[in-house]
Amino acid sequence: MDTLDRIATHPTSLARNRERIAMLTESARRAGTYVAGARLRRVFPHADAVAALDSFRRPLQDDSRTPMEVLRELDTVGSPATVVQHQGRYFGFVNGGVEPAASGAAVLAGAWDQNAALPVMSPAAAALDEVAADWIVDLLGLPQNATASFCAGATIANLTALLTARDALLRRSGWDVATQGLAGAPGLRIVVGAEAHSSALKALRLAGFGSDSFEVVPTDATGAIDAEAFPADLDDRTLVVLQAGNVNTGASDPFDAIMARVGASGAWVHVDGAFGLWAAASPRRKGLVAGVERADSWAVDAHKWLNVPYDSALTIVRDREALQRAMSSDGAYLPSDEGRAPMRQGIQMSQRARGVEAWAALSARGRDGIATLVDDPCDLARHFATLLEAEGVRLLAPVVLNQALVAFGVEPGAEPDASTTATVLSRVQEDGTMWAGSTTWHGIHAMRLSVSDAATTRDDVEASAQAILRAWSAVRHA
Ligand SMILES: *Cc1c(COP(=O)(O)O)cnc(C)c1O
Repeated sequence: MDTLDRIATHPTSLARNRERIAMLTESARRAGTYVAGARLRRVFPHADAVAALDSFRRPLQDDSRTPMEVLRELDTVGSPATVVQHQGRYFGFVNGGVEPAASGAAVLAGAWDQNAALPVMSPAAAALDEVAADWIVDLLGLPQNATASFCAGATIANLTALLTARDALLRRSGWDVATQGLAGAPGLRIVVGAEAHSSALKALRLAGFGSDSFEVVPTDATGAIDAEAFPADLDDRTLVVLQAGNVNTGASDPFDAIMARVGASGAWVHVDGAFGLWAAASPRRKGLVAGVERADSWAVDAHKWLNVPYDSALTIVRDREALQRAMSSDGAYLPSDEGRAPMRQGIQMSQRARGVEAWAALSARGRDGIATLVDDPCDLARHFATLLEAEGVRLLAPVVLNQALVAFGVEPGAEPDASTTATVLSRVQEDGTMWAGSTTWHGIHAMRLSVSDAATTRDDVEASAQAILRAWSAVRHA
């Protein structure tokens, strides 16, 4: 007997849950309608839809409302003001879309409402979390015995890993952070690339390391660390922060060459691989991150390139004990030997069962499908750049992954200038066919195109390139 039949034969269960069942059915229906209509909508909402959000800004009323009424308002006012970033034409930031399997799993997991902090709180969450995390370690070619744990985002993953590194490095100097704190602790040497992501820098700051003390290694024209400039005299009080996937260009630091310099120094090497580490899951592209598996810890997002709902990322640490020591927390009411306990492998205690959605996305795609999930956006980013370059748009860096950086001059082939690029960008954003954001790359104001939504097709890229070229032409002839 399947679940629905059982419900149908259990009138008490049906009566007790009538409202919730109706809500879930109606939300699923509305979600389906939203997705069906999203393809036809502007990528960034119309100003009227954004203005209508003001109706949410009212004092909380005294009386209750029916859940159905609340859902209706959410859909009527909220849905039109969302950004359509899962229908193939959103190229802003590195946001990623959402896989159908993950989207569906999120609905079911929402109904489950499981707390993944401890296995005893949810055997289902514990199993799926563990399986998904292990699959990801395997797909990324990281050490088999490394410990992976879900968290809210790569920023949290960076922080978790850096706290672990800090405690482990200080412990080697005979300093125990848990009992002695940080004041008076021996200093650590911090080595970072000149183009480290702001998230990694924030994580360093939160871990107690100020930027004045950083040794900053210069980067090359692609935004990757210049291996020649990387120090060769590290020791076991050094924390190195590297990057897989420069947020502008997609370039990764040369791990093999850097790891050769790190050698057996005992330095702790952390890699911020929020999106770029996924290159390792593609046989065609894993060469871009060769040697990354030699590091000690990694941060990687699931909500970006794996295309699962926010907020989902993984902290991966080679030394399980170091992670668990840094993240341990005990209370009289907490079981102590619980096997794999997410709350002892990360910062959060209570947490969503993120592994459910990741498991669904991975399980639906399989190994080859994940390679395609990486390869297609890379091929499309190159196609995007080629289409624009052919019309005289300036490509500012080679397309090595899923990112393309372009800038515009007063006419095709002319030196790009900040004001033309800014005007083209705002016209593109207004037009609504697609959406891209801006950045500054080595002093040049640029349009940043990130292909990270699995739903993006060649047609989407061609229509989007046309929209950009139309906007540029309109600016030139204004
Ligand atoms: C997006 C990104 C981050 C931050 O990730 P969140 O999941 O948004 O916290 C860190 N590093 C790099 C390279 C990124 O692209």
